[in-house]
Amino acid sequence: MHPRLALAALYLLLPAACLHAASGDLTAWFIDVEGGQSTLFLTPAGQSVLIDTGFPGNNGRDADRIVAAAKDAGIKQIDYLLITHFHADHVGGVPALAERLPIRNFIDHGDTVEHTPAGQKLYDDYRKETAKGNHIVVKPGDKLPIQGLDWTIVSAAGKVIGKPLPEAGKANPFCAAFKPKDADPTENAQSTGSVIALGRFRAVDLGDLTWNKEADLMCPNNKVGQVDLYIVSHHGLDISGSPALVHALRPKVAIMDNGEHKGGTVEAWDTIRQSPGILDIWQLHFSAAGGKDHNASEKMIANMSADHDAGNYLKLIAHSDGHFEVTNPRTGFTKKY
Ligand SMILES: [Zn+2]
Ligand SMILES: [Zn+2]
Repeated sequence: MHPRLALAALYLLLPAACLHAASGDLTAWFIDVEGGQSTLFLTPAGQSVLIDTGFPGNNGRDADRIVAAAKDAGIKQIDYLLITHFHADHVGGVPALAERLPIRNFIDHGDTVEHTPAGQKLYDDYRKETAKGNHIVVKPGDKLPIQGLDWTIVSAAGKVIGKPLPEAGKANPFCAAFKPKDADPTENAQSTGSVIALGRFRAVDLGDLTWNKEADLMCPNNKVGQVDLYIVSHHGLDISGSPALVHALRPKVAIMDNGEHKGGTVEAWDTIRQSPGILDIWQLHFSAAGGKDHNASEKMIANMSADHDAGNYLKLIAHSDGHFEVTNPRTGFTKKY
């Protein structure tokens, strides 16, 4: 058979998911879990990576929303689940999700630092699920074994990378005005942070990493470099998202996983809005705290107050040349960057 015909025949035999993934793009769904985090990635090779799972309870609300995004992605399992830290709004949804979709690999920072009864229960419930799959404990500097992406862990278990990433490491002028806050003894400061790159496209996700750890990562030298997308730390609460972090990252776009009444603070929003090079902030919810002056334009907000519990996601498609686009399925609005 002519080689080109053989290739055509091969394509006909590939399942639909593979054809979908053959685009070479990285697609991400920013799932509304009402002020927690859950972000699904579909890689160019068709692998799925989920960062966090939202809350427990609510009749599996957050797990159902992840399943809805998985359906849009055309995937039938989670290949890698990365849990940033052991708080209810990130790890709480794992048991309900595991009832709905197989989870193959679990990635986290190791033991919880919160041994209260509630903290321990969250952790123990999670560990029951990791026992059924493969469990990977990461440390800063590790790379996840994900085909076609360069996925680097930059923070975990209270530590950050010692050396700058390639092409990073410049002195950070925004450290001069940095003022530390009280030490954070919670799981937030333990958050596993990632730099996710597809060719020239770069995104950063630091979970709920708090203020002082941001300085460990970014001061006096910026060990991360610049990014196209900043997945806003800690839902836009003002104990994360310092100018030393955000302004040095110099994101083009920020996507904030705030709830209507969680995160989306004026302080965090202003810091992003004042960041050099920022083009837009997209939000999972209208923020009540932000009011009329500190919210994105309605077409860039996935859920307005009136759509209570609609659970709309935002979707991003990134190309290896660094261009990307964000879509708000609620409004049908897409913007290219
Ligand atoms: Zn959180
Ligand atoms: Zn947290």
